[in-house]
Amino acid sequence: MQSIEKFNFAGKRAFVRVDFNVPLDENFNITDDTRMRAALPTLKKILADGGSVIIGSHLGRPKGPADKFSLKHITKHLSELLGGTEVLFANDCMGKEAEEKTAALKPGEVLVLENLRFYEEEQGKPFLADDATDEEKAAAKKAVKTKQADFTKKLASYADCYVNDAFGTAHRAHASTALIADYFDVDSKMFGYLMEKEVKAVEKVMKDIKRPFTAIMGGSKVSSKIEIIENLLNKVDNLIITGGMAFTFAKAQGGKIGNSLCEDDKLDLARSIEAKAKANGVNLILPVDAKIADKFANDANTQIVSINEIPDGWSGLDVGPETEKIYAEVIKNSKTILWNGPTGVFEFDNFSHGSQALGEAIVEATKKGAFSLVGGGDSVACVNKFGLANGVSYVSTGGGALLEAIEGKVLPGIAAIEK
Ligand code: AMP
Repeated sequence: MQSIEKFNFAGKRAFVRVDFNVPLDENFNITDDTRMRAALPTLKKILADGGSVIIGSHLGRPKGPADKFSLKHITKHLSELLGGTEVLFANDCMGKEAEEKTAALKPGEVLVLENLRFYEEEQGKPFLADDATDEEKAAAKKAVKTKQADFTKKLASYADCYVNDAFGTAHRAHASTALIADYFDVDSKMFGYLMEKEVKAVEKVMKDIKRPFTAIMGGSKVSSKIEIIENLLNKVDNLIITGGMAFTFAKAQGGKIGNSLCEDDKLDLARSIEAKAKANGVNLILPVDAKIADKFANDANTQIVSINEIPDGWSGLDVGPETEKIYAEVIKNSKTILWNGPTGVFEFDNFSHGSQALGEAIVEATKKGAFSLVGGGDSVACVNKFGLANGVSYVSTGGGALLEAIEGKVLPGIAAIEK
């Protein structure tokens, strides 16, 4: 596989697929540029080598061209992030303008193509009218698939090499994230630095595992994390199940959980996860106590009770101090740690203690040499809220992509470069 570090971009035009799907306010100001910053090492390397950059990205979920989803809104900020380098823009990612502007690019220049998802070919999914019939849907799907090859080929024709730095969309087999790689030979397609870091971090927790390996699965629902939990049961030494989903397990064991979050149709599943953990020799750790509330609010009245003795009218919104101690003990003795999902409603300060304590234990273990990977939406928000991001080994930028990788799925964006 080609590596970006070794590749010399001098005189080459690189098509770089990034994830610049950044949040914009009503005046089109970028409210969080984390995703743009994450791609800078790759862009800077290409420019420093004397190459030119063609940026392809999506923004939002357009159904055809729409000003509010235009990537023109990000070019000024990208120029600032690149230390004042001029950033050119093509009003369309297809057509004459894109063709001419990409062909005219000189070493050191950057061109942003308009939102790739203005074309249904990018995702290979038709923009359907809400009242489309099944027949119309089937015909439209077929038509898009046929057009997709031309779209992909066109994008590939702009560049001499292809760099995928969009981990956030690596789980999608879209034109610019996966299919395009087929138009480049093995020496001229590669991961960007961000993608490389993400892939390495995932490999450390899924392949190159130092033991004990502890995974912490939290958040609201067990149903959304079944595949991950099942895959992890074949890999981990300790599995902490926490957050709202832990109450389904407590009830499955015969506990009284009051009005806590519970998926009654998943009680058998919880029991089968426990049985599988036992059969695999996995230490399944559930909360033993809870901080309960008499309403779903930060200023609710609270009590600390056993997880199995929650009175009616009350619900567990965080773990209690005994549970925190148990988690910390296990985590501090771990060498590989994966954290996805909070221990409670961390958005309320009065119910964030468990998540913070757990994050701090991970930081402590990391200081002692453990590898810790944090990822998946809310856990990232958690480490940021408690200022712990610098204390863990890696915070993933990928939500769905990271979760699918942990489920054990092959991500099309990664496979396309590796094959
Ligand atoms: P998820 O999106 O499944 O990762 O879950 C994250 C959400 O779960 C966060 O917004 C938390 O507030 C919520 N959550 C965690 N623990 C609980 C709980 N005990 N009761 C209700 N919601 C919870």
